[in-house]
Amino acid sequence: MLQENRNLIGGRVSPTLVRACQIDACSEPVPASLSHQGVCLSHYLDEAFTRIASALAARRRGEPLDSRTLEWMTKQGDFAVRQLSNRNQHSSEERARLLELLLGLANLREYTRQEGAAKVS
Ligand SMILES: [Zn+2]
Repeated sequence: MLQENRNLIGGRVSPTLVRACQIDACSEPVPASLSHQGVCLSHYLDEAFTRIASALAARRRGEPLDSRTLEWMTKQGDFAVRQLSNRNQHSSEERARLLELLLGLANLREYTRQEGAAKVS
């Protein structure tokens, strides 16, 4: 939605152009799968790990995860699985980090389930 609005207003964003990562001092190309986020895979992963860590910290403080975070987790899980299924697209280091992302999400989900069970009783 945001992306569409920007295209309508600015009219400068061409989908055929390979964009560079938006993070400061990074000029890695943005993969098509991350075009809506405007960052390279490495920075996408950095941000995802940061977000998982803060969500885990919130859970440890007993705070519930909001529906946006839960939705985000599902999307990142799908994304990581899709990336890992493209065997030749990523270096072994990138694949290792994608796997780490999946593990982090699974870990967070486990915490969420525990909370759900506690609420019922
Ligand atoms: Zn980057």
